[in-house]
Amino acid sequence: MRTASPPVIEWLTTEQAEFYDSVCRFARTLPDDVRERERAEQFSRDSWDRCAAFGILGMPVPEELGGGGQDVVSTMLGLEALGYGYRDNGLVFSINAHMWTSEIPIWTFGSTEQKARWLPGLCAGSTIGCHTITEPEAGSDAFAMRSTATRVEGGYVINGRKTFITNAPVANLFIVFAREGEGVGPFGISAFLVEGASPGLSVGKPLEKLGLRTSPMAEVFLDDLFVSDAVSAGRAVRSSTRRCDGSGRASWPARSDSCAEPWKPASATRGSADSSANRSPSSNPWPIRSPT
Ligand SMILES: Cc1cc2nc3c(=O)[nH]c(=O)nc-3n(C[C@H](O)[C@H](O)[C@H](O)COP(=O)(O)OP(=O)(O)OC[C@H]3O[C@@H](n4cnc5c(N)ncnc54)[C@H](O)[C@@H]3O)c2cc1C
Repeated sequence: MRTASPPVIEWLTTEQAEFYDSVCRFARTLPDDVRERERAEQFSRDSWDRCAAFGILGMPVPEELGGGGQDVVSTMLGLEALGYGYRDNGLVFSINAHMWTSEIPIWTFGSTEQKARWLPGLCAGSTIGCHTITEPEAGSDAFAMRSTATRVEGGYVINGRKTFITNAPVANLFIVFAREGEGVGPFGISAFLVEGASPGLSVGKPLEKLGLRTSPMAEVFLDDLFVSDAVSAGRAVRSSTRRCDGSGRASWPARSDSCAEPWKPASATRGSADSSANRSPSSNPWPIRSPT
């Protein structure tokens, strides 16, 4: 446990500084067992759940979808304070992967049904998300991916192999990227929301790492994985269009022109007049609960 005073960040408003301190204080209440778990490469579900209950996991997501409705600066302060107060950097990394690569893409680019289905659980921590894009031969050059999504009656069949997937060993939501056939070129990559227990999706043994050892990582195998078109199940979100049509497709930030709508924080500076104008009237400025 770190007991030194948190750093002073000069440009923070009083409210932001209090928030930072409150997350730091919370972080110091988390079990101090990281030394053993680091050796054993053990993820702490207990600390994950405590962070969720405190409101960390859902910080940037709107309150009506189960989140805290925080702006981007506050979210980053919260994550920094968590990292400052808690030694388990692997858990903080897993939380970041969950937040930035599962919650925010679904919130920003998902359909209304997808948001309603997935975001409350992701914010509450009962659903753990992972972003499944890297392949053994496609890392920096993600568009070289070979995983395929073939259109069949009622959905898609996905085949491929993914690697270095953070949270895969503990996840129950996989955002799977695959190419929809050769004809559509480098921009024909779609993202599919897949439940962890789906037949055809399997997770390899956890990969051993030199650092961040408490953040679980594994390969993911996609063998004739069927993804239904059904509204509440996994649905295709295709990167090459910016529309959401009757078949449930929506845009996805997998290529640059699909990123034209970045996440817009409620405000850049918390506590300003603009900030309150952008928040829902009922919202508590800091809807994160005190440590119990
Ligand atoms: C801790 C960790 C967590 C991760 N979590 C996830 C995850 O949750 N989901 C997921 O899908 N992936 C994940 N990844 C994979 C990550 O996205 C890839 O490692 C990354 O895209 C780089 O790919 P690569 O490892 O194959 O390296 P390469 O692409 O092979 O790159 C190797 C080196 O070559 C350099 N390089 C590559 N191309 C060029 C170029 N054109 N010009 C100059 N230099 C170049 C790179 O900068 C790098 O230094 C994770 C990786 C790590 C380390």
